[in-house]
Amino acid sequence: MEGRILVKDRYFVPYIPYERLEKAIDAVAERINHDFKNFDGTPIILCVLNGSILFTGELMKRLNFPCEFTSVRLSSYEGTLSTGVTRKVLGLTSSIKGRTVIVVEDIVDTGKTITDLHALLLDAGAADVKICTMLLKPEVYKKDLKLDYVAMEIENRFIVGFGLDYDQLGRNSKDIYILDSKTEEKTAMKHFLIFGPPGAGKGTQAAKLIERFGLRHVSTGDLLRREIAAGTALGLQAKSLIDKGELVPDKVVEGMIASELDQHPDVKGFIFDGFPRTTAQAEHLDAMLAARGQQVDAVLSLMIPDETVFERIRHRAEIENRVDDTKPEIIRNRIATYHSKTEPVISYYKGKGVYREIDGLGSIDEVFDRVSAVMEEYL
Ligand code: 5GP
Ligand code: MG
Repeated sequence: MEGRILVKDRYFVPYIPYERLEKAIDAVAERINHDFKNFDGTPIILCVLNGSILFTGELMKRLNFPCEFTSVRLSSYEGTLSTGVTRKVLGLTSSIKGRTVIVVEDIVDTGKTITDLHALLLDAGAADVKICTMLLKPEVYKKDLKLDYVAMEIENRFIVGFGLDYDQLGRNSKDIYILDSKTEEKTAMKHFLIFGPPGAGKGTQAAKLIERFGLRHVSTGDLLRREIAAGTALGLQAKSLIDKGELVPDKVVEGMIASELDQHPDVKGFIFDGFPRTTAQAEHLDAMLAARGQQVDAVLSLMIPDETVFERIRHRAEIENRVDDTKPEIIRNRIATYHSKTEPVISYYKGKGVYREIDGLGSIDEVFDRVSAVMEEYL
């Protein structure tokens, strides 16, 4: 196994050598063989493309009962439905009606992908769905869905190799490597995004982080108000749109961010709050940073359960006496909108290896300790 490797623009260090993967795959295959020894029927092995391709191959050659094979890809999050699943199964070639399906995944992180797929397969008529994943990040897996077969558990860090990619590269590595956040340039300017549903405490945590780490807070709302107050060209343009009740276009917001970046070349880094909200904005931010030789270093995602979001929004509305916002269906709708809007952005950053999920429950100080521990890896 090689030492440090460069995949595209990031360094990765050795994490799981192929020999250890082989042993873990041997063990998981043995369990599946045992469970299906006297199975009445022919299960279908379902490879989740693209990441699971190598694992599925290794697993299948160890299975010693009759089985069929098919593969699928899941569409990225695109629906804005307030109920149900927002994704589609693509390319399922054989019918799974009435069949037992063994889903083979590369990695389960938050479990969003696998729970969506599980529901979609049952919807498509599968009689039974078993899950087999090569890797699991138990620290972040928060779903109730039972994972029948897990070959190996790993820590909550970003990895590549053995089918898993960083920006589509690195899948062909035989061994698994882990993002080397410790040896990445400590001097370059850092950029952090803070994410979370309404009521997660983003503003509070951002304010504490700025003080502790000497960063600059970029809130697009604040920037807009400042430009308008200063009467700049951008500000005037934004104001005329807002006065007409229209949305400020991405270009204007991005222009403000670019000028904010250029006005503060000496700070250690920035924390973005409320931006980007869409994948298009995320791509523009990447381009803006790349033009300055920089990148988004980490996306800090404060997680609180929907029920807690619900209670916090309702509580806030009651205090502020906004009767409309106390209606359950309105609150549910806001939460659904939040998920459908942010999930594409989350999956975008996950693909870049910078997404870090943090438990947002507990006291302000408890959450701050968790967020700070993640930040310290970068600063
Ligand atoms: P989940 O929906 O469970 O949060 O995420 C599962 C998907 O995220 C995986 O199928 C994979 O595409 C991606 N993913 C999660 N963690 C990692 C990782 O450490 N490395 C890579 N390359 N992809 C990951
Ligand atoms: Mg996958």
